Amino acid sequence: MTRPRTLITGGAGFIGSHLCDRFLAEGHEVICMDNLITGNPDNIAHLIGNDDFKFIHHDVTNFIYVAGELDYVLHFASPASPIDYLELPIQTLKVGALGTHKALGLAKSKGSRFLLASTSEVYGDPLTHPQDETYWGNVNPIGVRGVYDEAKRFAESLTMAYHRYHGVETRIVRIFNTYGPRMRKSDGRVVSNFINQALDGDPLTVYGDGSQTRSFQYVDDLIEGIYRLLLSDEAEPVNIGNPDETTILEFAREIKELTDSASEIVFEPLPEDDPKIRQPNIARAKALLDWEPTIERREGIRRTTEYFRSLHTGVTSGD
Ligand code: UDP
Repeated sequence: MTRPRTLITGGAGFIGSHLCDRFLAEGHEVICMDNLITGNPDNIAHLIGNDDFKFIHHDVTNFIYVAGELDYVLHFASPASPIDYLELPIQTLKVGALGTHKALGLAKSKGSRFLLASTSEVYGDPLTHPQDETYWGNVNPIGVRGVYDEAKRFAESLTMAYHRYHGVETRIVRIFNTYGPRMRKSDGRVVSNFINQALDGDPLTVYGDGSQTRSFQYVDDLIEGIYRLLLSDEAEPVNIGNPDETTILEFAREIKELTDSASEIVFEPLPEDDPKIRQPNIARAKALLDWEPTIERREGIRRTTEYFRSLHTGVTSGD
């Protein structure tokens, strides 16, 4: 019996590195590929020296060469935080388009099963609530945020084309807001911003009036959902997210309370095309994968706060 071999693009990123851990734990040989633009070698430092793990420093918008057989290709490479893709618009478009093409081409040539990391951003600023997989979305193609949304929409389209025309076994996960250890402190997303602002005693920056909603899932729940989807027979997109919805202002108050912080809450301008509401409908994931989130937000925030505290070397609670 040979062990499965799995390529994870973006494997040094927040979600990619958790996938590396999970697939190694499942007995796979894991090849992690990353150009380290937004990925971080610290996320995979603990895996260096593991004989079943290999890191390849490569930009997947260029031809991907991997020697030997590959059972699975998981395509997670992409800037994923709004501040990153606003700063790296061309790279974001390229990795969603050219990078997905290269990764699909590799999966086709090796006969691998392919899984695309897609996103709730394909729904844009949604006109239905909650969002289910049949919704086609409301995306501004020429807005600043469109570089990510359209790249992922194209990536989904290309994935389905490879499935239909080349017979590649494909899976598409639409990932909703996810948080947890290994997010970058300066990631720019609301969870890392609020927790670090609270820990540093800085004001919590609510964009707009804070009435916009998001539904946050803890990373371990996501990884479980991705693993189940990969092993399922489902080629159509599946939402993986936690339907527990909150307004951003309520969330700021919750973070203050959970971190026991005296930080004030301040209001800053709402970024362009910021979706007003977001909540996954996870009926498909429940029915097809027998999956639902298990980690409640307060517990997930506690664990994530522990992680960020551990980065503040020497800083203890209340300092
Ligand atoms: N947000 C905020 N303060 C911050 C960072 C983000 O109020 O310091 C808001 C942002 O405008 C959005 C929500 O929090 O409405 C979630 O933003 P994030 O960047 O985490 O993810 P998004 O779901 O927008 O991709």
